Amino acid sequence: MSELQEAWADLLRRRPSFRDSLAVYGEILDTWANWSPPPALALAAAPEQWRASWEGGVPLAAEAARLLRAEDLEDLVGAAMEALARVEPSLGPGLQAFAAAWDSGAVGPTALLPARGRIGAAPGGTAGLGTDALAFLAGASLRPALEALFAPAREHFTESAWSLGICPFCGGPPGFIDVVEDGRRRLACHLCGGAWGFAKLRCPFCGVDGAAHLVRLTPEEAREEGYLVSACRECRGYIKEVDRRARWNAGPPLIEDWGSPHFDLIAHRQGYWRPIPSIVQLVAK
Ligand SMILES: [Zn+2]
Ligand SMILES: [Zn+2]
Repeated sequence: MSELQEAWADLLRRRPSFRDSLAVYGEILDTWANWSPPPALALAAAPEQWRASWEGGVPLAAEAARLLRAEDLEDLVGAAMEALARVEPSLGPGLQAFAAAWDSGAVGPTALLPARGRIGAAPGGTAGLGTDALAFLAGASLRPALEALFAPAREHFTESAWSLGICPFCGGPPGFIDVVEDGRRRLACHLCGGAWGFAKLRCPFCGVDGAAHLVRLTPEEAREEGYLVSACRECRGYIKEVDRRARWNAGPPLIEDWGSPHFDLIAHRQGYWRPIPSIVQLVAK
């Protein structure tokens, strides 16, 4: 079992009522664990270039677009599409159109990779799929490939060189917040597994600063202490967070995010959005 699979099993022990409705996430993690990256799928060492890029506020996203080939992602994207079709059968025709476009080479990895301000190359969607479905596919497929691709660059990243709300590696939107010791916030990227420090009172999506712009939606139940939804009054974006000082047994950010759909529903009902939708939001549409 991979680390994520173990953490997922642990989360389902803590929240057994989600076992059926979230089964699809377990299947996605199984696919990831069975996938092995092509040996050539990694950045060639260029630490100076990476550092210059980070200092200029530019993630290493262009490298992923350059190196990632459609055949590298074939199995991951295929499994993610099957999962999405099971969760939301109404997306069937759109998924078929996307699969046909992928097979013919008309769309490839850039349809799923983060681009400036969004996920995917085309605003509004690609080949039969809307932005939300594409973002879900990206979140359900890219991680193992991008994790391998960016692995050589991780140790060269220094937090002080980066203050943006996007992932310094793949350029993706943050998927979850960890509040760590002394209250600092760390953002986590679900697309590549990257993590970076971020200002406490700033919206990672629109960059607005200050407590007056932020809303904290906290669960009513005491047993959910330590979890909350952090939302922005200005851009209406939201992100979930866990305070690890109160939740020592919390799992990796991706697992905590996938395993807390009840908070997504609260945010969704109040009209907030997130870049990569949770399956409960896809189904609710
Ligand atoms: Zn990333
Ligand atoms: Zn905002």
